[in-house]
Amino acid sequence: MKFPVYKMLCTTAMAFVAATVAQAQENVLNLYSARHYQTDELLYENFTKQTGIKINRIEADDNQLFERLKNEGKNSPADVILMVDAARLWRAQTDGLFQPVKSTVLESRIPANLRARDEGKGAEWYGFSTRGRIIVYNKATVKPEDVATYESLADSKNKGKVCTRSGSHPYMLSMIGSMIERNGEQATEEWAKGMVANFARPPQGGDTDQIKGVATGECGVAVANTYYYVRMLRSTKPEDRETMSKVSFIWPNQKTSGTHLNISGGGVARNAPHREAAVKFLEYLSGNEAQAYFANGNNEWPAVPTAVAKNPALESLGKFKAENISIAGIGKNQIPAQKILDRAGYK
Ligand code: FE
Repeated sequence: MKFPVYKMLCTTAMAFVAATVAQAQENVLNLYSARHYQTDELLYENFTKQTGIKINRIEADDNQLFERLKNEGKNSPADVILMVDAARLWRAQTDGLFQPVKSTVLESRIPANLRARDEGKGAEWYGFSTRGRIIVYNKATVKPEDVATYESLADSKNKGKVCTRSGSHPYMLSMIGSMIERNGEQATEEWAKGMVANFARPPQGGDTDQIKGVATGECGVAVANTYYYVRMLRSTKPEDRETMSKVSFIWPNQKTSGTHLNISGGGVARNAPHREAAVKFLEYLSGNEAQAYFANGNNEWPAVPTAVAKNPALESLGKFKAENISIAGIGKNQIPAQKILDRAGYK
């Protein structure tokens, strides 16, 4: 009775090996992406048109992707992993999910401060679009000069007015990580305590909920990523137009460090079965046309300085001074940032 079972297992194993070899030789790319926007369809179609490489997409939110990649381990079919926010890219890197990529195309296209640190073998991830973290305020109850910097939100004059999403969310951890880089841990901890003292309500919801809270007057001021603000600006729903009529925004820290920037980005998976195709795909993403699709999909700016994405709503926000800090440094600061939040009681 044992023989058939053994034989069956053996056949299954051989079939598996054959399938894996066939898959590796096939002209495909397995893309694990935390992005899912309509314009991405064209982005992927054009890659297939140019290279003949078919893209299999697994789209899920970042936490689900982390979980899946962890469970798949060394046998993961993932070739390219796309994530949003430096804190998540850094976590993926420290979890060993990426492999370094040396590419003269990527090195010449993606600015050095928008990629992982290169230890001589190439960077493990590259940023492909950027977003800013802005301060949104209620036009009737708050004077913009009172909320001109991230630091000013913790000032006692803003008591009872401040709203944010959870401090532990990657967008907040990255923003606080940049503060640690600029002001040091001690000053950042004082800031966090000041924020907690100024809350209009306990941290809750996402960035869009903060904008809505500001509009209703429950909050006087909040922080949000630029693309949430632009998405609301572009909305034709009457309730969104009403919301946006009550609020305005400022580019934070224009006289000092500049507005905090973050990225969407990605890299080649550690055990990518189609490594060559994966590198080709990242290089493709750095091209002018792909940059425009990638950025516009989520109302972001292209990471490549010479790429142009026509987005009137985003352009209507105007020009601003962005912070000039390595995104890789911000990512690694999320651990001290979380400790500071815990000590300050910033949920
Ligand atoms: Fe987001």
